[in-house]
Amino acid sequence: IVRRMARSGHFAGVGEDEVEAWVEQRMDEHRHSTRPVVLELADGRWMQLREFRTGTGLTVTARTDITELKEAERTIRRQAEEDPLTGLANRAVAVRRVDEMLAQRTSRAGALVLIDLDGFKAINDSLGHDAGDELLVVIGRRLAAAVGRGSVVGRMGGDEFALVMSCTAGEKSLARRLDRVMAAVQQPVALTGRTVTPRLSMGVAVFSPGQLSRRDVFQRADIALYHAKAVGRGRYAFFDHHMLRATEQRQQAQDCLREAIDEDRLFIELQPQVRLATGAHVGFEALVRWQRGDRLVPPSEFVQLAEECGLIVPLGNRVIDHALRFMRSMASRGLKPGRIAINVAAAQLKLDDFADTLVAQVAGHGLAPTDIEVEVTETVLLDRSAQQIGRTLARLHEAGIAISLDDFGTGYASLAHLKRFQVDRLKIDRSFVADIGMDDHRAVIPRTIVSLAHSLGMDVVAEGIENERQLDILKAYDCDIGQGFLFARPMPPAEAEAHLRSV
Ligand code: C2E
Ligand code: MG
Ligand code: MG
Repeated sequence: IVRRMARSGHFAGVGEDEVEAWVEQRMDEHRHSTRPVVLELADGRWMQLREFRTGTGLTVTARTDITELKEAERTIRRQAEEDPLTGLANRAVAVRRVDEMLAQRTSRAGALVLIDLDGFKAINDSLGHDAGDELLVVIGRRLAAAVGRGSVVGRMGGDEFALVMSCTAGEKSLARRLDRVMAAVQQPVALTGRTVTPRLSMGVAVFSPGQLSRRDVFQRADIALYHAKAVGRGRYAFFDHHMLRATEQRQQAQDCLREAIDEDRLFIELQPQVRLATGAHVGFEALVRWQRGDRLVPPSEFVQLAEECGLIVPLGNRVIDHALRFMRSMASRGLKPGRIAINVAAAQLKLDDFADTLVAQVAGHGLAPTDIEVEVTETVLLDRSAQQIGRTLARLHEAGIAISLDDFGTGYASLAHLKRFQVDRLKIDRSFVADIGMDDHRAVIPRTIVSLAHSLGMDVVAEGIENERQLDILKAYDCDIGQGFLFARPMPPAEAEAHLRSV
C-alpha cells in the first residue's frame, strides 16, 4: 500500500529510496516478531511480552515491565474524566453521557438533572474554602450513593452537580427517585467547626433519543433549575414549556435594561439625610430609577437582574455620572447639598481602576472627595474577591471618600470584617428600624449597632425612619444620622433642589 501511495505521489519530497528502506524495515520487523502480549500480574504489575525470531531460528522473548506506563495511562484517563475534588465524573463525561443517550437507537427516555447547592457561597465565605470543599465532597458521596449504579453523577464545576439517568418508568417514578435523593443529601453535615444542612435545587429535563439536541437538553434543565430556585430553593422542577415564556420575559427585560442603560434612560432620585440631634440636612443618597414604559420598575427588580447579566458596571457608571452631575449643578447654583451617598456593587469594586477613575471623575466635576460616600452592602465584604475589594475600599478611603456599610445587620459580616476593611459608617438596615416601635426586645439590635460603631470610631445612619417614635428612640440611642419617609421620600433632582432651598 505504501509503495502504491508513493507511486501516485502521496509523499512528495520523499525519495523513492527512502520509501523503499522504510517498507523493508517494517516488513522485516513483521517477519521477525510476534504481536506483543500485555499481562497483568497477580501483584498488580504489568508486563509486556514480545517474541523475536532470529535469523538462525532461535526465539528470543523480551519482557518489559510497563507498570509505570500503565499507571500513567490510567492517571491521564482519570484526569480527563474525573473531578479532582469529589472523584465524581466531570462535566465532559456527563455531556458525553447525554450525547450517548440522545444517539441511542431505542426510544428509551433519559433525564438530565442539574443540581445547585443553595447558599454555598455564604458557607464558603463564612466557614472558609476548606469547609466548602469538604461539603462538596460529602454531597458528591451522598449523591452517588443515593442515585445508584447505571446513572452518571457528575460535578459540573463550583457548587453544581448533574445526574444523567434513565427515565424509562416515567416522570412520576423519576420524581420519587429524586425525592429520595433530596432526602438523602439534605441531611446535616458536620464540618470543621459547624454543622450545616445542605439544600439542593434541581432542574430536570426529560428527553427521548433523537428528539432534542444536547444544547436543548442542557438549556431546559437550566431553565428548570432557575425556576426551582425562583420558586423557593430546596426543591426540584421539571422543565415545562411555560417556563420558556418566563425565560423569554427575563431575556426581554434584560434587553430593555441594556437599551435603557445605553440610551441613558435610567435616572436617580435623591433621598435626604439629616443629623438626628439637630435635624440639619447633611446629604443625600442617590437611588437608581428605571421608568419602563408607564411602569416605574423598583431597583429590587432590576439591580439584581443587572448583576446577573453583567450590566451592573455600566448601570453603576450611569448612576455615578448622574450623582456627580447633580452635585455639580447644586454647587453651581450656590447650594450646599452636603455629601452624596452612591450605592456601589461588588462587580464595580472588583475593577482595578474603580477607585482611581472615581477620584478623577470627582475632581473633574469640581467636587471634593469628602463630598462623596460609597455605600456597599455587607455581603460585598464576604465576596470571593474580598481582597481586591478591600484594596479598592482602602484607596477610596485614603483619597477621602467615605465608605458606608449598607443593610448592616442583615448579612454575616462580623467584627473582624469591620476591622479588616476601611469602613467609616454603618447603615442600620431599615428592617431593624421598623422593629423599633414594635417591641423592646428587637430594639436591642439598633442600640448595639450604634454602640459598636461608636466604639470602632464609625458613625451610624439609620434608614427607613417612618415615625416620631422611631426617631425619638434612635436619638436616645445616640444614632448620628437618619434617613426615611419621616423626613422625605426619594425625589427627582429638581425637587431635591427645591428641598435644599427650603432647609
Ligand atoms: P438601600 O441602599 O438600602 O436603599 C434604601 C431603600 O430604602 C430605598 O429603596 C429607599 O427608597 C427605601 N426607603 C427609604 N426610606 C424609607 C422608609 O422610610 N421606609 C421604607 N419602607 N423604605 C424606605 P429603593 O430605592 O427601592 O432601593 C432598594 C435597593 O436597591 C437599595 O437599598 C440598594 O441596595 C439598591 N440600589 C438602589 N440604587 C442603586 C444603585 O444605584 N446601585 C446599586 N448597586 N444598587 C442600588
Ligand atoms: Mg443604600
Ligand atoms: Mg440599606
